[in-house]
Amino acid sequence: MGKVYLVGAGPGAPDLLTLRASEILKRADVVFYDALVHPQTLALAARAERIAVGKRSGRHSTAQKFINKRLVDAARDHKVVVRLKGGDPTLFGRAQEEIDALRAAGIAFEIVPGVTAATASAAELGVSLTRRGFARHVVFVTPRAAKGERENDWAASVLAADTAVIYMGAGLAETISAELIRRGKRRDTPLALVESASLPERRVLHGTLADLPELARRAGPGPAVLLLGEVLRDAAARPTAINEIEAFLKRA
Ligand code: SAH
Repeated sequence: MGKVYLVGAGPGAPDLLTLRASEILKRADVVFYDALVHPQTLALAARAERIAVGKRSGRHSTAQKFINKRLVDAARDHKVVVRLKGGDPTLFGRAQEEIDALRAAGIAFEIVPGVTAATASAAELGVSLTRRGFARHVVFVTPRAAKGERENDWAASVLAADTAVIYMGAGLAETISAELIRRGKRRDTPLALVESASLPERRVLHGTLADLPELARRAGPGPAVLLLGEVLRDAAARPTAINEIEAFLKRA
């Protein structure tokens, strides 16, 4: 029986991968990978059979139960099985369902952490998610809940946090902005939309909570997180090359 490694591929840039992940990929016999994994990262698994099982909302996806079963089956035939996921495997990646299936089948597994979108985006913005004195409470949250899932009061979490990072939220911009404002969040709360963090096509849009629907309309098709909180107040005033371009395009 083989072992299954749940490996974080990081936010996109192939050099934001841990050395441990790289070593395991090189030894892999089979790799099941997500849609957002960079081709160069995948290429490290030179001797492996590489199987796409990616999900992106709105597109074809391989049902989770089927992925679980394929991992179990692969571990019966191969020594090193990798489940390669974008960012960190333990955040919004349905890792627990895979872990449960592996445990139930008595298959050994190991988690290899990765750089998650929240921290990759903080790096793009040049800000710290926490700040001594006024930001000690960071929340990673998604407003998305699948059918039949428990009610998810994402807004309560955002209202309570000093800094909130919202995953899979750019497509729900209107709802997020309206709901948070309705429940008492200040309209001028600093907000940033970071798209394709760490990749050449990265994009940073600055604004306020009230501007969110407008920012989302200007964003491209890449994966994006929303960051919200006072730690961002000065970030917009210190333009990076990226938002200077953005400002230029807006004037043009
Ligand atoms: N496990 C991943 C998250 C998977 S959910 C992680 O730890 O990052 C997919 C969501 O992650 C996307 O909808 C988007 O909100 C966010 N995301 C992934 N890659 C991103 C990137 N490079 N830049 C910005 N957001 C990203």
